[in-house]
Amino acid sequence: MKTTQPELAKIFTDCIKQATEQTNTCMYPGCEENAINSHIMQKNGILSSIAEDRHLWQSAVNHFKQEYIGFQKKGINKVYTFLGFCNNHDTSVFQKIESKNKIDFSDYESSLLFALRTACNEYRIKEIVIKHQKCILAHPDTISSRRVKIFIEQNEIGLQDLTFFIDAMWNDLNNNTESFEFSFREFEWFELCLNSIYTYDTSQEIENHIRKHGVDMPRTSQIFISLFPYDNKSILLMGYHKDDTSKVKSFVNLFFKENEKRLKRRLSSLITFNCETWVCSERLYQSKFQGLDSEFFKTMLFSAQNGNERKTFDVNLFADNFKEKFKDFVKKNIA
Ligand SMILES: [Zn+2]
Repeated sequence: MKTTQPELAKIFTDCIKQATEQTNTCMYPGCEENAINSHIMQKNGILSSIAEDRHLWQSAVNHFKQEYIGFQKKGINKVYTFLGFCNNHDTSVFQKIESKNKIDFSDYESSLLFALRTACNEYRIKEIVIKHQKCILAHPDTISSRRVKIFIEQNEIGLQDLTFFIDAMWNDLNNNTESFEFSFREFEWFELCLNSIYTYDTSQEIENHIRKHGVDMPRTSQIFISLFPYDNKSILLMGYHKDDTSKVKSFVNLFFKENEKRLKRRLSSLITFNCETWVCSERLYQSKFQGLDSEFFKTMLFSAQNGNERKTFDVNLFADNFKEKFKDFVKKNIA
């Protein structure tokens, strides 16, 4: 018997609920406590500094459908959170970047904590998505099981890669080792917080590797990025694993060695084409993003198909005329 559309929709929603509810154990190694809602970025201090009426705007993606949804306004207690750690570990592990004291960005452990939380958030999303897809697979006659299986397989490869980095981070924290290279840079105040993992290897390079060697890359190289307003400035913090130095160093250095004008262009491309996880202030939303949902939808689709995610586009989010320029850019190059 064929499953009807309403039945399919119900299975889809029920599986989201089940997958989310089942993925709530604290991510601290060995801890089995239930996780609480943790903010990806410090709430009282960083997020609150750009919130208006305790609200922020979020660029949202439906990970279950792999779809860009658009911008959503959310309260500061709910926005930019994930079920990552139990109350105890959420407090004890991240103390250095959560306390009222000034954060020292040249301190290795502080930088590592930003990257750790970014990595754990991404890991959790992947875990939930895999469980969701497996739940759907358990209902036969729903959708093409071949497609679901490939999707699960891709996410499991992603999880494996992330595990390598997260394990190295815990190891660093517990043994005072330094497996990552971090750099930070200050520039003008910008009311946006971003925490993202950037895959250095482009889709084209990953595909070429499979074609040439018949197997997936042993591991992709990930760059951990945090961008946020702090103390009347913005901080850009980036890190990569030292094993990846020869591959990614010169690329990461571009963000730190180039002048501010070029940096802004790079960040603009990153925010508008590559990064899913960010929030911004009401003021920034109104001046830069309001009314651009359809353009953003197109650029997200474009960047998924373009094959070269390292390409920098000629857009400047920091310029006063960004909205018109961006619309024009999408019209000429993408639409
Ligand atoms: Zn815990």
